[in-house]
Amino acid sequence: MPDDKHTLDYLRQFGYLPDGVSLGSPQGPAAVRAFQAMALLPATGEVDAETKKGFDRPRCGFPDRQGALESGIGTFVAFGTVWNHAIITYRINNLSEDLPEERQRALIETAWGRWQSVVPLVFRETNEEPDIEIRFGAGSHGDNFPFDGPGGVLAHAFFPPPNAGALAGDAHFDEEETWQEGFSSRGFDLLTVMVHEFGHSLGLSHTSVPSSTMNPFYPTPSVPATDDRAGIRSVYRRHIWAASLYRDILGRRFDDEGLDGWVRGLFAGASPQDVARGFVYSEEHSGQIATDLYFSLLDRAPEPAGLAGWRSQLQQGMGRQSAIVAFLDSSEYRNKHPQDDAFIDSLYRRLLRRPPDAGGFDFWRQRMRDGMPRFEVARGFILSDEYCRAFSRSLYTRFLRREPDTAGWQDWTSRLTRGLNHQDAVLGFVASPEYQSAVENWW
Ligand SMILES: [Zn+2]
Ligand SMILES: [Zn+2]
Repeated sequence: MPDDKHTLDYLRQFGYLPDGVSLGSPQGPAAVRAFQAMALLPATGEVDAETKKGFDRPRCGFPDRQGALESGIGTFVAFGTVWNHAIITYRINNLSEDLPEERQRALIETAWGRWQSVVPLVFRETNEEPDIEIRFGAGSHGDNFPFDGPGGVLAHAFFPPPNAGALAGDAHFDEEETWQEGFSSRGFDLLTVMVHEFGHSLGLSHTSVPSSTMNPFYPTPSVPATDDRAGIRSVYRRHIWAASLYRDILGRRFDDEGLDGWVRGLFAGASPQDVARGFVYSEEHSGQIATDLYFSLLDRAPEPAGLAGWRSQLQQGMGRQSAIVAFLDSSEYRNKHPQDDAFIDSLYRRLLRRPPDAGGFDFWRQRMRDGMPRFEVARGFILSDEYCRAFSRSLYTRFLRREPDTAGWQDWTSRLTRGLNHQDAVLGFVASPEYQSAVENWW
């Protein structure tokens, strides 16, 4: 194979052939085949006319292969670095001369939004030192990767830290291109190129999967495709897990600062158990538990002082199951159900959600006649196999979105009957490997 200069330069520039290795070496045809696979050309290993045309296609300046990343063909490729927080700042160094400034700012926001719709990240413009700097430049523009004039390389971007030092995350666009909105032979659609480059800024490498945003050849879809979505979710799986705790435990969307704090904690070494404990014993969740007990056991909204008292006890580690017993033992509940029979009947209906069976009812009536206090009767119900089986089943459907398996169901039921805090059971489910990996697909 002749050492055609253009071929050699291209294969080296985009990571297919190491410096100092010639096309005539045994690695030559393999490098050509790898390029052909990326460009969706027949993988002949020969630099034929079609392949040479492929070298001239407008594209991203980022290498298609990075040293050890040899296995990325056929699926998304995550570079391996990730932003260790959720609020990601960007600064616009300068904009293109080709489009009105407000249009370019709108396109930048749209491009971030395309990734934000897939993973729980927040993008904020700043005038201070940013995570990501956006700039347009021509030729040599301050890094070791000069642009090449019109056509060819259109833009490039750098992965998240600790890669590339101060350049980490930055996205550069070749100002010698003609930037435009939409598709025509006169220029290049800026949104398309931005969404692709921002994918690098967030940690994705090039993929050979056709019709993917992270394919290196212009034009690519400006809405992340299936492969891109799987890729970015995999890179930001810890962010997704933390954001899922807001949804699944607190029942709301995350707040930006709160999520940012938990994600920083995770990356600083906090365990999933630590983070999950922060959620289940939070003031917010404790208040929700207490409010729910007012409605479900006392049939009324809480009064502020009472709510604050229960919330504080739950926050300090009181189990939900103990709070239930205390509510059932309260004078207010006694006034609602003064007779023992009515009390027992109410426990069946409120806790087991069924009418009493004759045998069970007689058992508890006899206990109460023998002098068993109400709180002990209530505790008998809350620690019963029936109640705990139903409660643990609800955790499977709520957090794992499946029916319980026999062994797991038995295990959780037995821990609950021995007095495990309900909040700790929730903690066990959301910190489980199954939940942590499943939520990636539920975001
Ligand atoms: Zn690229
Ligand atoms: Zn650059």
